[in-house]
Amino acid sequence: MPDDATTTDVLVIGSGIAGLAAALAAAREDDDVTLATKATRPEGASSWWAQGGIAVSRDTPEEFKADIMAASDGTADPDAVDVLVENANEAVEDVLLETLDVEFDQNGSGHDFTREAAHSEDRILHVDAATGKHIHVPFLNYVDDHDGVEILDDTAALELVRHEGRVHGAMLESDGEVEPYFAGSVVLATGGIGDLYPRTTNPDNTTGDGIGMAALAGAEIEDMEYVQFHPTACVLEDNEVAFLVSEAVRGEGGLLRNGDGERFMPGYHADAELAPRDVVARAVKAEREATGEVTLDVSPLDFAAEFPGLVERCEEHGIDWTEGIPVAPAEHFLCGGISVDDRGRTTLDQLYAVGECSRTGVHGANRLASTSLLEGLVWGLRAGEDAAGAEPEPIETPELLERDPDLPERFARDKFQRLTRVMDENVGVERDPAELQRAMAVLRRLKGEVDAYVRTRTSRSLYELRHASVTALLVARHAAENEESVGTHNLVDASEDPPEPTAD
Ligand SMILES: Cc1cc2nc3c(=O)[nH]c(=O)nc-3n(C[C@H](O)[C@H](O)[C@H](O)COP(=O)(O)OP(=O)(O)OC[C@H]3O[C@@H](n4cnc5c(N)ncnc54)[C@H](O)[C@@H]3O)c2cc1C
Repeated sequence: MPDDATTTDVLVIGSGIAGLAAALAAAREDDDVTLATKATRPEGASSWWAQGGIAVSRDTPEEFKADIMAASDGTADPDAVDVLVENANEAVEDVLLETLDVEFDQNGSGHDFTREAAHSEDRILHVDAATGKHIHVPFLNYVDDHDGVEILDDTAALELVRHEGRVHGAMLESDGEVEPYFAGSVVLATGGIGDLYPRTTNPDNTTGDGIGMAALAGAEIEDMEYVQFHPTACVLEDNEVAFLVSEAVRGEGGLLRNGDGERFMPGYHADAELAPRDVVARAVKAEREATGEVTLDVSPLDFAAEFPGLVERCEEHGIDWTEGIPVAPAEHFLCGGISVDDRGRTTLDQLYAVGECSRTGVHGANRLASTSLLEGLVWGLRAGEDAAGAEPEPIETPELLERDPDLPERFARDKFQRLTRVMDENVGVERDPAELQRAMAVLRRLKGEVDAYVRTRTSRSLYELRHASVTALLVARHAAENEESVGTHNLVDASEDPPEPTAD
């Protein structure tokens, strides 16, 4: 055993709502907790960006459960959903209301519960349309002030330390230095996979690290084909996502128009602009391809009065919203991930996973709106409590290679461009089985090239690229293996006739 090993009882990786909940729960068990996060500011976690809110059970958990099951096309795991809906209110009361004192919006008779698409009752707690930051910032401050928790920011986990089926810690990189960090238990809370696609609502550097690390260590990964795309991300001229335009704008009367100025959604679905997210995403993609652009016409509503926050964001980005907001589908949420049980335990001893990087079974093939903050909170608390109490056992780790913090910029840029292009074209909102096979071939080759590099160098961006390539390959492979169109996984119907060529 190395004498000078750095140890902690519980090592949490990631500072979103799930990681913070796990750290809090383990610290409440009197364990020493270290929380390592790549983020340097709260905005580095998707949790900060959440807009709509956090759902809770109202009269009975059964109605909440029925909505989750229906949104997932019946594919969610009913036992996992029970865990979520039965623990929702206690977790929200304990952490958000009593510990953090989050002031959710009120109306005359108490909390102002709202409703989002596919919810059958008003059950969503919110603060303005910026719930995430009103939860995330006080949570981060509270955990940071806790005597039992040390937060290491700007610190990335590069890989897990594993020996004979047990996870003993992780290799952490900070300021170019890489050291092993040993722990009784490790909790992965690294969030989603936004950077695998050219357009995403997630913050920068969301490269699927936790899933990549867990997969490379041999943990089971499930349901990676279920990637949710948001249909209306506001895009700038270079096609970069500026911000998310919430479904509420369409709910209040916003209309989608193509590059010819025509309203097109009624031709795609009886519910037009309020059709399910995946239907709208596919239609927006098709119309952008056919006519060059799609805009969200907000003239039917009093946009400035109803959505002052979005008006501000438009102005920040120089968008004249009176002319319509340019929109495109963008990667938003991963329903699958590292397989875990009802306490966040993965298939590897002493390794836990919580939040968006995990696959609890709650979302199945599609997620009900405003359930992911809740899932991170509920599973974070349960996993943190369970992870506490194990002794760290430092082991010899292989010497890491010569550090090279400066991954040649061109290498990273070229590989990421290739990866995101393949994911967008072949593993996006619509999938063709033959194209999925081609995508897998490209991604396998790319992963091989990155692996060869990893054998000679160590740097954070190289490891991010590695995790992105492992994770992308998993999404493509699971998509290719699933022959049924369900939820967010849409296969093009090969039996359909190709469109007739037009006269011009
Ligand atoms: C724009 C937007 C709006 C949303 N609106 C809602 C909503 O209204 N309601 C709702 O329920 N959900 C919403 N979601 C989804 C929800 O916000 C996320 O699913 C949830 O916050 C994920 O929490 P998390 O803790 O798992 O991950 P995150 O909050 O993304 O945190 C991940 C953390 O891991 C860190 N990290 C990653 N890799 C490493 C590494 N290798 N080493 C160290 N640290 C690492 C990151 O820096 C970050 O701190 C929204 C998401 C977005 C993007």
